[in-house]
Parts: sequence; C-alpha cells; structure tokens
Amino acid sequence: MRVFITHIFWYWRNCDRSRTKEEARWKRRYDTFVAEGLSQDEAHDLASQMTRRDNDIGDDRRLCFECVFYANKYCTKILHRWKPSQQLRFILQRCDHFALKGGK
Ligand code: SF4
Repeated sequence: MRVFITHIFWYWRNCDRSRTKEEARWKRRYDTFVAEGLSQDEAHDLASQMTRRDNDIGDDRRLCFECVFYANKYCTKILHRWKPSQQLRFILQRCDHFALKGGK
C-alpha cells in the first residue's frame, strides 16, 4: 500500500511540474507571437496549436520561429531573388531545411 501511495504522489508531483512547464512555454510563445504582430486571438490559437503538437508524437510540424535559419522575420536559408525570404512564419509546416534552434 505504501509503494502505491508513493507512486501516486510521484505521479501527481511530476504531472503538476510538467503542466506548469507547458503553461510557461505556452505563455512565452503567446507573448512572442503578439510581439511579432499576431492579434491576441491568433496568438492564442497558434500557441495552443503548438502545445497540441508538442503532445502528439506523430506531429513533426514546426514553425520558422523554432529554426536556426529564422532571423529578423526572414528565412536566411531559402533565398528569393538572392535575398532572404519571408516564409510562412505563423504556419506549422514541414520544411526540408529546418534545423532546431539550440539543437545538436
Ligand atoms: S529553413 Fe525552413 S523552417 Fe527554417 S526558417 Fe527557413 S522556411 Fe522556416
């Protein structure tokens, strides 16, 4: 019985921690999207969409915001007439050139 209660307590503590982390991540994304020009409603929807994506292991779509090639609102990897292009910044997508910021 004691082991069972210990497991329940561990589960409760870790669920609570991951929920707090998820909420903090959601808020950080929401603030970024608003600062980048989305309306509050749009930023809310996109941040929520990203949270659902994070929790779905089969969903490998990304935003340019998460990519090392995204800088100053432009993609520096894909050029348009030899200039950085402004890709679909606010759309979850699969890009062959994507590389995770801070990733190895
Ligand atoms: S390489 Fe792809 S994912 Fe990265 S910024 Fe450019 S368009 Fe976006």
